[in-house]
Amino acid sequence: MLIGEQLYEGKAKVIYKTDDPNNLLAQYKDDATAYNAQKRGTIAGKGRMNCSIATHLFQKLEASGINTHFIDQPSEDQMRIKAVSIIPLEVVVRNIAAGSLCQQTGLELGTVLQQPLVDFYYKDDALGDPFLSRDRILMMDIATPEQIDALAESALRINRILIDFFLKCEITLVDFKLEFGLDHTGQMILADEVSPDTCRLWNQAEPDPNRRVMDKDRFRRDLGDVESAYAQVMERVLAQPVQ
Ligand code: ADP
Ligand code: MG
Repeated sequence: MLIGEQLYEGKAKVIYKTDDPNNLLAQYKDDATAYNAQKRGTIAGKGRMNCSIATHLFQKLEASGINTHFIDQPSEDQMRIKAVSIIPLEVVVRNIAAGSLCQQTGLELGTVLQQPLVDFYYKDDALGDPFLSRDRILMMDIATPEQIDALAESALRINRILIDFFLKCEITLVDFKLEFGLDHTGQMILADEVSPDTCRLWNQAEPDPNRRVMDKDRFRRDLGDVESAYAQVMERVLAQPVQ
């Protein structure tokens, strides 16, 4: 595979063209941002850790019947992916109340939801990734009613697979963000990444509300030991078989 010109640089990855027009290369970075890039820093080794964690989780999801953009991992911090046209929605699934859900509803941090909640946010940094209703998504022509249903259904299927997987890692999957895209055949597939940057993960064995955090909240909230938390997630995830 030849690495071609840079297509775009995001906050966590640089995306390159390859010699195959249907494939891209994602170079995972150590850069970390939070609060819509108002807070910036680096997490040493994050690129290779997130790339390896995401690879393993994409392989698990593929083995469970979910179509993803994952092709292979040519090096520790690089992932070959199918090129998609990204649907500009952040599809968030929540099992336990945290983050903006608590701020916007008054629910107490850690409240177990009766059933998983699917939220949509507009993927637009300039607007601050605002919450969108179904009607607003339709009004803005971002997705069709069928696509919205398919996104929510797929996100809930992925949630069930990941809850079980992380349970085996003795990690609680609190919530996570997904991005989907349309490949060159028009099929909707899971894209972007699934990693401690995009999931809230709590160490099951740890009751302390700060010490249990194993994800980017350690960086967001200056909880310390960010690298070792990511390393711990990687060790536990990679120890589980994908089949
Ligand atoms: P961001 O700053 O938007 O979070 P990232 O650094 O995480 O960006 O990723 C870079 C960009 O790559 C994002 O716009 C993301 O939507 C996009 N992307 C992810 N997977 C694919 C794919 N398979 N095809 C095309 N673009 C993708
Ligand atoms: Mg991103």
